[in-house]
Amino acid sequence: MCFCSRGIVNKDSSYITSISLLNNSTIAGIEGFLTKHCRFLTVFIDDVKYFFTIFKEFLNIIRLMSYYISLQKIIDFRKNLHRFPELSGSERDTQKRIMKFLDNLNPDEFILNIGGYGLAYIYDSGKQGPVLLFRTDVDALPIQESNSIEYISEVDHVAHLCGHDGHIAILCGFANIVNESRPDKGKLVLLFQPAEETGKGAKSVINDSKFHKIKPDISIALHNLPGFKLNTVYSRDLAFASASTGFILKLKGLSSHAAYPENGNNPDRCIAELIERYNTISSEIKFDDFVLITIIHIKLGEVAFGTCPGEAILMLTIRSYLNTDMIILKQNLESITEQICNSHSIKFSYEYTEDFPASINDNQCVKILRTVCGENNIEYVDLEAPFRWSEDFGHFSQISKSLLFGIGSGIEHPQLHNENYDFPDEIIQTGINVFNGIYKKYLQNNE
Ligand SMILES: [Zn+2]
Ligand SMILES: [Zn+2]
Repeated sequence: MCFCSRGIVNKDSSYITSISLLNNSTIAGIEGFLTKHCRFLTVFIDDVKYFFTIFKEFLNIIRLMSYYISLQKIIDFRKNLHRFPELSGSERDTQKRIMKFLDNLNPDEFILNIGGYGLAYIYDSGKQGPVLLFRTDVDALPIQESNSIEYISEVDHVAHLCGHDGHIAILCGFANIVNESRPDKGKLVLLFQPAEETGKGAKSVINDSKFHKIKPDISIALHNLPGFKLNTVYSRDLAFASASTGFILKLKGLSSHAAYPENGNNPDRCIAELIERYNTISSEIKFDDFVLITIIHIKLGEVAFGTCPGEAILMLTIRSYLNTDMIILKQNLESITEQICNSHSIKFSYEYTEDFPASINDNQCVKILRTVCGENNIEYVDLEAPFRWSEDFGHFSQISKSLLFGIGSGIEHPQLHNENYDFPDEIIQTGINVFNGIYKKYLQNNE
């Protein structure tokens, strides 16, 4: 008798039992997985002394099969989420899908509709210890997907092109582990956060009265990173992702006949001067670290050839590695705007939108991340500089210690928000392992 990937077989090759409960594609998948990942076992038990060895290996194969099947289940779930993406603030069905996928969980507390269509599963040991919060984003983007995959988005001009479908899958995989291995101390919160892309979700979760009793000591999140080595983990001490905010400036002069511009006050020269000065702020003012102003939109008057315009709108995105520099940047932006508009006798008003604070890592958390990666044979790299992009996870940095890290999606992988981007399923297990490793360090006794 021997074990093979199709079941237990007699010496004459007739089956004693087969893995008949599984369909053919699952069996083919398991075969591929076993051939690739585990020593293939062919042991004859002519002698009873081998029985226990064989039994142990058989259990191992069963364990690997169940691991493979549950990972496959998570990947299938990710693809299903990809098929039905929802925009920031409208994640109603995504919420339902997550709840359905996790209906086997038995948390000590469950919070529905936190900060919009958010969800929180809470495991409370009832003992002293830190409150650890793991957060995933759940929203998609208003972009038409151009992939040729069988699970392509079925929603016009909406797609999961930032990989939040994959981030959800990772947190769900981790949730299933936690459910079987609850915290020995402290409290664990699994948060599915809506509306990350607009920068509103984290804030509305934190401001939700249901969140007040959670009070995390440490908040943790990840993002996949195209252009970086597949399955390598990246992070750094202090700033990980930049602070950024949108600046909307409305200008009001006086319209006139296009033939007599001198009878009005066209804001065109005011705009030209503003742009000139905005572009030199970073070199004129002393900042502690990198700052950037990007002009993203200008509208002057209307398409009316007989009219010299009297109104304009100018929009910028401003960024900084440090929250302190963001304050200085805003002050300078406002004073320069006031000074130039006044010199052109142009009335003005402004507002900020899509406010993302910088995501600042706690150095002790980064140290634990490095240890966890080492223990799990996952390559870890310290980033030289923070990312210029922002994450609304920065709001969690302001209310607790926090850790944001990236997992490489592959050097050649299409970039986030590209129309041909798709989350790489190969990094799901790495994400689960890192989350689980950090969790065990903080909330389990044997670590
Ligand atoms: Zn994004
Ligand atoms: Zn994202």
